Amino acid sequence: MSKRVLIVGGGVIGLCTAYYCALRGFTVTVLERNAGQRDGCSFGNAGMVVPSHFVPLAAPGAVALALKWMWNPASPFHLRPRWSWDLFSWCARFWRAANAEHIRRAAPLLRDLSLASRAGYDELAGALGSNFGLVKKGLLMLCKEPHTLEEEAKTAGRARALGIPAEVLDAKQTAARDPDVRMDVAGSVYFPLDCHLVPDRFLAGLEKRLHELGVQFIWNAPVVGWQRTEKSIVAACSSIGEHEADEFVLCGGVWSQNLTRELGLGLPLQAGKGYSLTLPRPRQLPQICAIFSEARVAATPMGGALRFGGTMEIAGLNEDINPARVRGIIAAVPKYYPDFRPEDFDGLEPWCGLRPCSPDGLPFIGRTAKFSNLSIAAGHAMMGMSLGPVSGRLMAEILSGEKPAWDISQLSPDRYS
Ligand SMILES: Cc1cc2nc3c(=O)[nH]c(=O)nc-3n(C[C@H](O)[C@H](O)[C@H](O)COP(=O)(O)OP(=O)(O)OC[C@H]3O[C@@H](n4cnc5c(N)ncnc54)[C@H](O)[C@@H]3O)c2cc1C
Repeated sequence: MSKRVLIVGGGVIGLCTAYYCALRGFTVTVLERNAGQRDGCSFGNAGMVVPSHFVPLAAPGAVALALKWMWNPASPFHLRPRWSWDLFSWCARFWRAANAEHIRRAAPLLRDLSLASRAGYDELAGALGSNFGLVKKGLLMLCKEPHTLEEEAKTAGRARALGIPAEVLDAKQTAARDPDVRMDVAGSVYFPLDCHLVPDRFLAGLEKRLHELGVQFIWNAPVVGWQRTEKSIVAACSSIGEHEADEFVLCGGVWSQNLTRELGLGLPLQAGKGYSLTLPRPRQLPQICAIFSEARVAATPMGGALRFGGTMEIAGLNEDINPARVRGIIAAVPKYYPDFRPEDFDGLEPWCGLRPCSPDGLPFIGRTAKFSNLSIAAGHAMMGMSLGPVSGRLMAEILSGEKPAWDISQLSPDRYS
């Protein structure tokens, strides 16, 4: 009988893990607390696959920027102060990780994983037999201010040193790169290897393929605990029963932390809430996805629609919509795309999702030392879509007993235990 793998969580990381495990002949079950018609973090995001994002969230300057933005309700970042030991220790760990040495170690790994994931999406575009809108035309990092362009140009230099192509463009060259949208910017950095896709279409196509591969889905089954021995997991206990398996993979996004507490594993995660708004018939439709550098807003064409996403709100595990943050995103759009109007967004329902953020900005991927058959793939923060296929592939390699294709010791789920 083939190895039975039980995956907790049906977001992009859970489904990609299920896919690569099924390809290896494992008997795979996905347990998801929500119904099949779910709408979590993996569905309404900006859909960017970004080798250009080789700098993790915990980077030098991030703490100073966060403190500056914190007091402005419409800024791209907010941390709601509250008495919480988890929050306090997460912040202290973030602060400790935000240094140049961390970036030096993490950047080459993030580059390799993003490029492998990009190749993974290429393969999946063929394998799924469904069009999930993969567009490989690059990304424009748009800068309104000359000094921001100078900063982004330095990042472009670091990208090139890592072997990631990046071109610094002035305003005219930026306009020529994407003539389908009028832009009001000082210039941009163009990352030709970045690409974008339609996340919910990708997940629908992947889910369909997983059914064909014999993967079993159990919906409306929140895992609430574990049956275990001292050294291994016997079953995941959900509201509808106990689910035995040979291997357990926790892909529960930001909620993964709750599920590891009773196991005595330290998996520090904070929810980084973000919002998106999708214009079904935008005034103009760019060809290339873009990030508004100062405003930290992403703009992604998705078929004929145009999605804007942004903000990072560390405000606990809730999915309440904060109208001031949404207004901040809307206000940024005409600053960069001057033909757009705030009224274009009237009547649109904002979407929000909780990014699973680790303190050092790197995901947790690998087996836990404490339980021989428990692995974790969570904590991808702003890069879960980007790193989905490679995370799934790595998990399948690990569960097969193979040495992962890259040295992923930096991603160990035990690094805070
Ligand atoms: C506004 C915004 C824009 C973004 N843009 C991008 C982008 O352009 N590119 C990019 O790479 N990333 C982007 N991201 C980040 C990306 O969306 C996340 O990193 C990714 O979705 C995380 O995937 P996940 O599978 O780990 O978590 P989730 O999508 O949260 O999935 C976890 C799943 O586990 C389930 N679950 C949790 N607890 C339990 C339980 N106890 N029992 C059973 N099931 C459980 C949940 O219901 C959920 O379905 C963006 C995020 C936001 C908010």
